[in-house]
Amino acid sequence: MRLGGYGSCKSFIGWRSRELMAERYDPLEVKRRLPFLDVLAHEGVPVRRSGPNYVATCPFHQERSASFTVYVGSDPAEDHAFCFGCGWPNGKPGDVIGFYQAKRGVDFAVAIAQLASLGAVPPSVKTEWRARENVSRMTASKKQLDKPALPQLRTLNEDEQEQLAKLRGLSVEGVAAACEAKRVAFCPWPAWEPQPCWLVTDSARYVAQFRRLDGAMFVRHDGREIKCWSKGSPTWPLGAGEIGEQSAVLLVEGGADMLAGYHFLEGFGRLEQVAVCAVLGASMRLAVEALPYFYRKRVRIVLDDDEAGTNAAARWTEQLTEAGAAVESFSLSGLTTKEGLKVKDLNDLALVEESAWLDPELKAAFLDWDF
Ligand SMILES: [Zn+2]
Repeated sequence: MRLGGYGSCKSFIGWRSRELMAERYDPLEVKRRLPFLDVLAHEGVPVRRSGPNYVATCPFHQERSASFTVYVGSDPAEDHAFCFGCGWPNGKPGDVIGFYQAKRGVDFAVAIAQLASLGAVPPSVKTEWRARENVSRMTASKKQLDKPALPQLRTLNEDEQEQLAKLRGLSVEGVAAACEAKRVAFCPWPAWEPQPCWLVTDSARYVAQFRRLDGAMFVRHDGREIKCWSKGSPTWPLGAGEIGEQSAVLLVEGGADMLAGYHFLEGFGRLEQVAVCAVLGASMRLAVEALPYFYRKRVRIVLDDDEAGTNAAARWTEQLTEAGAAVESFSLSGLTTKEGLKVKDLNDLALVEESAWLDPELKAAFLDWDF
């Protein structure tokens, strides 16, 4: 069993998403499924038997002897520990959730979500029941989203894939994977002054966004310059209808970050299990029509490291949780690209010195999904 070290490196965003995560699992059920000794083994704390109990060198203070004592009950929910050296956890017996919080330096909500993931603990009956009701309500209220008229699309040829990979600082393999998934296509745009463009869309075709392959701006009729040109319903998360049997979803904002999602997941051989979804604007609420596709999925949101991104993460977490998804969100703060610029989004992360971003903890945050 593996546990992604996500909480420890980059922080979860937003109190609301923490609250929702904590609410989702029953602490008693988490403790019941995760005997203290299993978690100690997972956290690399060796124990030995001592009479009816177990002892370990305390992970919370420096010592030679083994003062950290684990009391194992007949019901794992009753397992607890106490350190006779440093007094952890300050007088009262500590349970496995408290231990995990202290060991990882995370709060209760994060600890319970990660432990639930480690022990494959299902969401509480109450949460599950509510999610099912929500999903059937959402499914019943389906209305038709606008479908924009799009010109003839074709797949990017090899040269264009290479050009796009270079433009975004991504691997050709990642771009090729996005092309193969029909998430990226080629199309000259706009009609009156066609430029070679790459566009992002999905099989539902509710929304599409064009960008020039040479990286330059479009000039609109009114003379305004724009970087990307969108058509259709931007509230539709691209790829929602294609999640299918995949158990996990990486949710990002914007077409370039979607490509970066493919870049990372392809690079780490995760495309089979993890679907990529992208919303084309952080100010959007997700289309209700899309939410049932996220039922019982594990969703990781990686958004731009700014206020809009933080707010979007909180909003989407709330919506997705209502639809029965388990949602975590990540901040990319504190990293810089090779050029020394602040990392703002997932595409920027691809521009970070490999040695920095291959830091095991950071890597785990994005790529360990505990299958
Ligand atoms: Zn101690």
